[in-house]
Amino acid sequence: VNRSFDAIVVGAGQAGPPLVGRLTAAGMKVALVERHLVGGTCVNTGCTPTKAMVASAYAAHLARRAGDYGVRIAGDIAIDMPAVSARLQGIAAKSRRNNETWLAGMDGCTLIRGQARFLRPETMRVGDETITAPRIFLNVGGRATVPDMPGIGEIAILTNSSILQLTEVPKHLVVIGGSYIGLEFAQAFRRFGARVTVIEKGPRITAREDEDVSETLQEILEEEGIAFRLNAECIHFAQHADGIAAGIDCTDGEPDVIGSHVLMAVGRRPNTDDLGLDTAGVAHDGHGYITVNDKLETNVPGIWALGDCNGRGAFTHTSYNDYEIVAANLLDGGERRVTDRLPCYGLFVDPPLGRVGIGEAEARAKGHRIKVGKRAMTRVGRAVEKGEAKGFMKIVVDADSDAILGGAIIGPGGDEAVHVILDMMQAGQTATALSHTVHIHPTVAELLPTIAGELKPA
Ligand SMILES: Cc1cc2nc3c(=O)[nH]c(=O)nc-3n(C[C@H](O)[C@H](O)[C@H](O)COP(=O)(O)OP(=O)(O)OC[C@H]3O[C@@H](n4cnc5c(N)ncnc54)[C@H](O)[C@@H]3O)c2cc1C
Repeated sequence: VNRSFDAIVVGAGQAGPPLVGRLTAAGMKVALVERHLVGGTCVNTGCTPTKAMVASAYAAHLARRAGDYGVRIAGDIAIDMPAVSARLQGIAAKSRRNNETWLAGMDGCTLIRGQARFLRPETMRVGDETITAPRIFLNVGGRATVPDMPGIGEIAILTNSSILQLTEVPKHLVVIGGSYIGLEFAQAFRRFGARVTVIEKGPRITAREDEDVSETLQEILEEEGIAFRLNAECIHFAQHADGIAAGIDCTDGEPDVIGSHVLMAVGRRPNTDDLGLDTAGVAHDGHGYITVNDKLETNVPGIWALGDCNGRGAFTHTSYNDYEIVAANLLDGGERRVTDRLPCYGLFVDPPLGRVGIGEAEARAKGHRIKVGKRAMTRVGRAVEKGEAKGFMKIVVDADSDAILGGAIIGPGGDEAVHVILDMMQAGQTATALSHTVHIHPTVAELLPTIAGELKPA
């Protein structure tokens, strides 16, 4: 079979479906190709189920701490892992179904199930079908990296996908990778009652954050009983009578960690190895990320790459923003660019970390003379009142221009409150302007104008 379309979109993740919506509304006939689940990573094995899991873990944590608030719970706190799993799977499935229903009702959209691969720059093969279009949008996302560590073939490894299927709490979960995905699962399973050890090859967790952020996160997680093994230079695995032995060759401490389960959370790789990029002449880097310009066009005219696969972002909001950029430029005569967006993201441990812009270390490395405003959550009324006074907030400001360069908030609602800083930055406002803003009392965000008015050279 050979079918022609006005556009082909590969991948029904975060950018693909809304783009199909805009293209079909503009009168185009569009093929949307998906090889697995509509909704992609975020909906099925990423943001949605993990944040649902984090919510269950928070409920368990709060229940255990009920006495701190003068609330007595009779009997023990028990985790019903099949119910936790059913809840998160249910939330993900509902979101997926909503996406499927939306696409099914979209005039001009043909959803084709299968793996798409280039035959020529305008033509792709999906199963025994050939599809052609003058415009092709790649939104193929990524998957967990499983590095070739010695012994890895001898043991069962969990990834972000398979760990969501667990219906029992592991006795001892060993998390390889002390970054965003690994830490969220580490804390959630600790709160479900597992022993948890995080193994990280670097000298500290969340290496791209400022050191005070990494340290505070580690302290918070250690207080909950999570063990950390840093500087794990040469990670290797073997079967062990009590489960799995993770050899870490660390400079101090026991050389092996014996766990019941191992979660691999050392990063993601783009789904471009089986896309036939070279056949179509689409340029990519050594890691498989598709090379794009500021408007997300590849080197081949008529082919764009959006979302995680272009290496310009690794989040749902960056993938969705990629869609907005491409749609605006193509359909609205816009001039939108990737470099116009501010870097921002959350780390959804509890309390969460909200981040925007650059940190102190990066600001200095870029040659800024900086001032910093910082405050511990123990001095934030709302955090104290909630009994959740862990973490801190800080903003980084250019000492010469008064421009806000970035911010970090670890604390209750830090993922939400950070948008105050984000929106001031987006609006091109200064630290002085922020310091003159009146915020609602009592909130965590209320103290952001205060710290903007108390900047110190750093
Ligand atoms: C555990 C975890 C937690 C996360 N939490 C967050 C969070 O809290 N916030 C956040 O912003 N981000 C989070 N992320 C990241 C987020 O999920 C991704 O950034 C986002 O899903 C990227 O969207 P995308 O559209 O680029 O790709 P994806 O969502 O990965 O979608 C790509 C789609 O393309 C399909 N596909 C691939 N190749 C082909 C092919 N050749 N033919 C046909 N179909 C193909 C795939 O099956 C998939 O459905 C998390 C990720 C993980 C793993």
